[in-house]
Amino acid sequence: MTDSNENLGFDPEELAAKYKAERDKRLRTDGNDQYLHMHGQLARYIEDPYTERTERAPIEEDAEVVIMGGGFGGLLAAARLKEAGVEDIRIIEKGGDFGGTWYWNRYPGAACDTESYIYLPLLEELNYMPTEKYARRPEIFAHAQAIGRHYDLYPKAIFQTAITEFRWDEDRSRWLTLTDRGDEIRARFVVMVPGHYQEPKLPGIAGVESFEGHSFHTSRWDFEYTGGDALGGLDRLHDKRVGIIGTGATAIQCVPHVARSAKKLYVFQRTPSAVGERNDQPTDPDWFNQFKPGWQKRRMLNFTGVFAGRIGDADQVSDGWTKPFIEMLRSAAPDMSEEERAEAFQLTDYKIMEGIRHRVEETVKDKQTAEALKPWYNRVCKRPCFHDDYLESFNNPNVELVDTEGRGVERITENAVIVGDKEYEVDCLIYATGFDLSQAAGFPVPIIGRHGEALSQKWKDGAISLHGFHTHGFPNLLIMSTIQSALDANFPNMLEEQSRHIAYILSEAKKRGVTEIEVTEEAEEAWLEEHERHSHITIQTWENCTPSYYNDEGHVSRHLARNGAFGLGPLAFIDILEKWRADGKLEGLELRK
Ligand code: NDP
Repeated sequence: MTDSNENLGFDPEELAAKYKAERDKRLRTDGNDQYLHMHGQLARYIEDPYTERTERAPIEEDAEVVIMGGGFGGLLAAARLKEAGVEDIRIIEKGGDFGGTWYWNRYPGAACDTESYIYLPLLEELNYMPTEKYARRPEIFAHAQAIGRHYDLYPKAIFQTAITEFRWDEDRSRWLTLTDRGDEIRARFVVMVPGHYQEPKLPGIAGVESFEGHSFHTSRWDFEYTGGDALGGLDRLHDKRVGIIGTGATAIQCVPHVARSAKKLYVFQRTPSAVGERNDQPTDPDWFNQFKPGWQKRRMLNFTGVFAGRIGDADQVSDGWTKPFIEMLRSAAPDMSEEERAEAFQLTDYKIMEGIRHRVEETVKDKQTAEALKPWYNRVCKRPCFHDDYLESFNNPNVELVDTEGRGVERITENAVIVGDKEYEVDCLIYATGFDLSQAAGFPVPIIGRHGEALSQKWKDGAISLHGFHTHGFPNLLIMSTIQSALDANFPNMLEEQSRHIAYILSEAKKRGVTEIEVTEEAEEAWLEEHERHSHITIQTWENCTPSYYNDEGHVSRHLARNGAFGLGPLAFIDILEKWRADGKLEGLELRK
């Protein structure tokens, strides 16, 4: 260690080598193929445990707009469309209610890590004050329902229904929307908001199907079996040996509750998460009530602005997302070369992650367990987590961390999980193994455009679109996703921007008497070029990261970048959309009457 490194308390070169070694340990040739999809026998893992299925006759009708998905994205799209005068809407949703990810994810401890004042959409419209800085699942779900009621969207919703195909009908100039209930809805326009976390996945561990105990995925929590609810109190686990596989953002939130209730808990870890402080607090009504109209959008943009380096204003949210980012930005001087800036950022990242590792050491009493819980990668390589009880859980005598040293669980038998030469007998196995995000380009349903061309075929080497919304050959299809669009640490901010944009386009179509909108090939090629010009930022960020769904399990490719978000970030993307709308020409779109 040099003198200056002694001041730092760590050796950057040693850390770089450690990060690389930890990453290499986790790289696998099978990438995304290591996971199992919930088909056939495994389909039982994605059945809806929350709402009893109601039988109904198939629906056959015309609609101006079909929205796929009733999460915050679908709700926002419907709300903004209604405000813009587009009323003839159908929302088709797999779940038994609105809420999307918050309908499905009811696991104990489920809560949002993003501040509720910017995360819960339409707070001013609904005149609602969140109860805490970080809202918990019941409040978030209730808010989704409240949006549905406020905008009178329940009569427009078709729940418990999965779309099986969208097919463009050239003669009618409509999208035939087919569902698993035998419905046929002929939509003039389709707005797709499939959501990020709609496809739960299981790890492809040998023996998954042979386990004879009780098992479920966190997004289909079985409260019948565990007792309790999203706030905890899992009283039926008192005599159960439970295994949780996975230590991502979901596990971080549910482990403390299972730890409190189960007779024995084994947490099977492949890669530790970086767990910072949460510091939740109740909302002070005096503070909340002093906000002036338009405050929510300003606060959202203030938060998003931090990540774009626009830190002139006060950091209004000032939490575990924004503070480290500001620390990074402030570590680089304006006159630094690109290389010097990168070095300064890296050094600050090391310091921040040293703080995270120090927190583990301070909290977890058993030295070996603490060592295993330390994350060795850059801060944004994996989803940062925030929790004040997770690490503490490992001090409970009934909780055991089973660290697989980056290899993952090896095998599951009819009653146990095998790691190395040890067998861990469990009564219940909970898969906190996340969601499949690798199919983003194909989307969850076949979309068949002009001349029978499938979108998955058109996008087989990566997406091509205008602003992520439109793609040539698929008229009147509008996509709301992160693909070639923007990824915001606060998802609803981007969904809000996308909804406004879509509402603008469809209301303009209505005003101008237009029945078909299609992006030209030139316009989508120009956007692809612009997107790719900045995608080196995406590639650089992910290339040296430990594997995760962020970087296609370590297989960073052009395909990943093409399907990734706009490299210049959400604020730049929002500026582009605003200018495009202000211009009023609907540039790049062909309009047909
Ligand atoms: P993740 O994909 O983040 O985590 C899955 C976990 O399963 C990882 O720890 C992974 O290990 C582990 N895993 C996979 N295969 C194996 C195996 N064979 N053996 C052992 N472990 C294995 O899913 P989550 O559900 O935790 O989170 C998904 C996303 O949902 C988050 O990234 C976040 O964006 C969002 N979320 C947001 C919350 C919020 O507060 N707003 C709360 C919860 C989730 P490895 O890391 O090695 O791949």
